[in-house]
Amino acid sequence: MTFIRLRGIGVSPGIGMGEITLEERVLFTSVKETVPQSRVEAELRRLRRAVTRTRRELLGLQREVRERMGAEHAFILEAHLLILEDRSLFSAVEKVIREEKSRAEWALTQINGRYQEIFDAIKDTYFRQRKSDVSDVLARVYANLEAKRKKAPKVDETRKAILVAHDLMPSEAAVKLAGGGVLAVAMDMGGATSHTAILARSLNIPAVVGLRNITQQVKTGDQVIVDGTDGEVIINPPPAVRKDFQGKQEKYGKYFSELKKTARLKSETLDGTRFTPLANIELPEEVEMAFSFGAEGIGLFRSEFIYLQRTALPTEEEHFSAYSRIARAAFPSPVYIRTVDIGGEKSLPQMNIEKEPNPALGLRAIRFSLWNRDLFKIQLRAILRASVQGNVRVLIPMITEVEEIGEVKLLLDEVKRELDRDGLKYDRQILLGVMIEVPAAAAITDILVKEVDYLSIGTNDLIQYYLATDRSNELVSYLYKPLHPSVLRLIKFVIQTALREGKDVTVCGEMAADPVCAIVLLGFGLRKFSMNPIFIPRIKQALRSLDLRTVEKVVEEALGLKTAQDIEEHIIEQILIKHPKAFLTGHVI
Ligand code: PEP
Ligand code: MG
Repeated sequence: MTFIRLRGIGVSPGIGMGEITLEERVLFTSVKETVPQSRVEAELRRLRRAVTRTRRELLGLQREVRERMGAEHAFILEAHLLILEDRSLFSAVEKVIREEKSRAEWALTQINGRYQEIFDAIKDTYFRQRKSDVSDVLARVYANLEAKRKKAPKVDETRKAILVAHDLMPSEAAVKLAGGGVLAVAMDMGGATSHTAILARSLNIPAVVGLRNITQQVKTGDQVIVDGTDGEVIINPPPAVRKDFQGKQEKYGKYFSELKKTARLKSETLDGTRFTPLANIELPEEVEMAFSFGAEGIGLFRSEFIYLQRTALPTEEEHFSAYSRIARAAFPSPVYIRTVDIGGEKSLPQMNIEKEPNPALGLRAIRFSLWNRDLFKIQLRAILRASVQGNVRVLIPMITEVEEIGEVKLLLDEVKRELDRDGLKYDRQILLGVMIEVPAAAAITDILVKEVDYLSIGTNDLIQYYLATDRSNELVSYLYKPLHPSVLRLIKFVIQTALREGKDVTVCGEMAADPVCAIVLLGFGLRKFSMNPIFIPRIKQALRSLDLRTVEKVVEEALGLKTAQDIEEHIIEQILIKHPKAFLTGHVI
């Protein structure tokens, strides 16, 4: 038994230790086998039989997933069924069999290769990663060419084990991970935005991807450690290494349970000022985890993930299913459903969106929705239908001018009338809010706020647009400073203008998750902080150890300083003098 250490990308934190279940992988053939002309028809029949078997298999899986995990997970299988119905795909396979007189295995391999090349040429990572859907379907058909194929394991046949796979097919990721038997995941392929990575994060399953060839170095039954925090995998660890990681696992576990203790404490400052921690989520499955970290509502549901996980456009029912599930799980706490923020970098795989010369300044978010009103109406209809729960709010991203709010209201009214006509119920008092992410919108907060029920400040975009700095560009990212005096003046204006109008205001960008920034926001009057759930405990811990008077005074003084660095130093020093516990927790992971 050799001891091997592999480095990959940690996409879901935590440590999993145990026995490996190696996921069998369909390997497309590399050998061209030809058949005599008289066998060509028989090969075509073999292919069609395999397609029929695959359809049966997918329908069975779909039923099972729907029953066990709900409709949102079954959509991937639906997408695969659609791919299976795609005539152009399979007539291309048949064409290879006919023209090259080859066996079906070779023809499927050829077409798979051709599709992979097409997908690889696409720049967008989300879209590129969807290529696994086509491959997934072709691989199933390939495996079904053999009549005596082993049956795919049922949902909970995976015992508690570490799942090692080449590239977990999206359909299998849903089935396997949500089944409850997986301690951790390690894969050859994959990136941080792959479906498996997203799912693993939301289900709290440690995962490392991008390991290149782990599947060739292990067999079922081997012992392995998956460290999703540091992106490391250790195969057949000797006892000393195992002990080390057990220590790390325990420490990590303790750290998390400490954090979760904070989750049960009251969200109030020393002087009794209440504040509300809310969660930013991307999947309905994350609600439970978010509440366990102390969230008191879902402050931002990034609904574009409903689109990005599919190969086909989502139906109204699919939207509805996701929204009602979140609303039910969070009830009676509020759920802010943000309408899609697609366009720009987050392009939509299902639509042929032309590349724009300057995507960050282009057809994004509400601009995209107003250009694609049919899609937008489907989403609004589903949100309204889910609002019967009584705790759903509509949130519109990237508003630039007041006219856009007018358009949204007209569309909302239209959809409401249609629902009335169809006899479908919705919350007639549903609240409408907009995100302040464009500096121009921030400057006219006084005008915009009168038109809506609440505001949510998206500091990630607001800062990048205000400082004209892309923080993922290493050359200029040093300029991306949430504590830049100009940013603070602007945000103070937005918060205080909203409050003066008696309207609710939330910050849902990453500023809300940073203790120093959160203190500044509290000083400005903010009481609703929405963030990635894992940061809620540290913000609660920070804000619970302060009294508002001190915060207001220190923040006021800081606003008189010239640089982000001076501001940060002043706040840390002055707060620490009075409240040494404010910055007790360091970085979470
Ligand atoms: C923001 O811009 O701050 C925000 C919360 O939106 P997103 O991060 O989804 O762009
Ligand atoms: Mg944004």
